[in-house]
Amino acid sequence: MTKLTNYQSTSAFSNAMVGIKAWLETGHRNPNLTGLPESLKTHPLMHQVWDGIDATQVWDCHAHIIGSGDSGTSGAWATPRMDTWRHPILKIQKWFHVNGAGLDKKNEDTSFVSRLAHLSSEMPEGYKTMLFAFEWAHDETGKQIKEESIFHIPNDYAARIVAQHPQHFEWVASIHPYRADAIDALEQAHAQGAVAMKWLASSMNIDPASSKCTKFYQKLQQLNMPMITHVGRESAVPGGDLNVNNPLKARAMLDAGVRVVMAHCASDGVDKDYDHGNKLVSSFELFTRMMDKPEYEKLLFSDISATTLFNHAWVLKHVLQRTDWHHRLHNGTDYPLPGVFPLISSEQFYREGMLAKEHVPFLQEVRKYNPIMFDFAMKRLLSYKEKQFPTSVFETRGFFRQLI
Ligand SMILES: [Zn+2]
Repeated sequence: MTKLTNYQSTSAFSNAMVGIKAWLETGHRNPNLTGLPESLKTHPLMHQVWDGIDATQVWDCHAHIIGSGDSGTSGAWATPRMDTWRHPILKIQKWFHVNGAGLDKKNEDTSFVSRLAHLSSEMPEGYKTMLFAFEWAHDETGKQIKEESIFHIPNDYAARIVAQHPQHFEWVASIHPYRADAIDALEQAHAQGAVAMKWLASSMNIDPASSKCTKFYQKLQQLNMPMITHVGRESAVPGGDLNVNNPLKARAMLDAGVRVVMAHCASDGVDKDYDHGNKLVSSFELFTRMMDKPEYEKLLFSDISATTLFNHAWVLKHVLQRTDWHHRLHNGTDYPLPGVFPLISSEQFYREGMLAKEHVPFLQEVRKYNPIMFDFAMKRLLSYKEKQFPTSVFETRGFFRQLI
């Protein structure tokens, strides 16, 4: 079994250097071209990445809806702090998300959906994307606090997008467990076809270890609805108390019998090790401890979304080597991140020994037209020391449709 110490978590300095290099290699702007050319559709590598895959079982289990509410009907909201240079990080993030998702600034809500529906139409029939609703931050009494929220995507809006494009999308609800109506809202989301629950504890102000979540976990377990929860540091949605993203905090939901999908294999950040005097260790180490507990074998899972970001190669190497975990991993794109050019560099993964040289120009071309096809192709081609992700990592439908 691979020991954690075989690979080092990268320092902030080396991360910055790798990031700058990735930026220079990829450029910063996604051209968002339309219409994957025949030469790519029929490329031998395209055949290779889909060979042996049943596309009707391929569900991308981690994708974000972006919207400003400008359609007047979506109810989507993003903090105005994203639109001012007084908050430069938020402002730059917004620019990257807008460009990564190919949005028309005058028409953000509808251009988001139409671009992603177009990209999906180029995937083999049956391929689907699970779109996340995103809950407001709430206070300890369960009251919504808009000022502390970064963005909000209503459950209804996610459900409506699926109703418009049922061949391409499924939806994932997001409900704050401290809400007085949390259980009703959960039952309603389930009845409306939500295939999972999504939390980002730090930005929503949820402590997953709090007894205020107990009833919510019982209901999730009853409905057999999986929880997709972020663990480790969160860079894309800043703010909040990061301690609540500690992988060890998920014990309460696992012990209640809820199937939990930890996002990104906890590939970022450090957390307190509550089992060993609160010393700081990598979030990935705590994730590893949880994954290796025999009692969580049938309850704890992870998605591999965002593990191809330039600073996460060390985690990806671990995860590829941990073949004993592979049947518990699910693919997710973290869309629109694969469309944000500086974040992922196929050239870098070639240098890391994880892609062959001939993969790089193919992936770079595909990405200009279709970031979700790019994400799928890259993860299908990745290998480390002859270990690759098996097809089960991509064929996730059965897990979310509760067929297993
Ligand atoms: Zn995400």
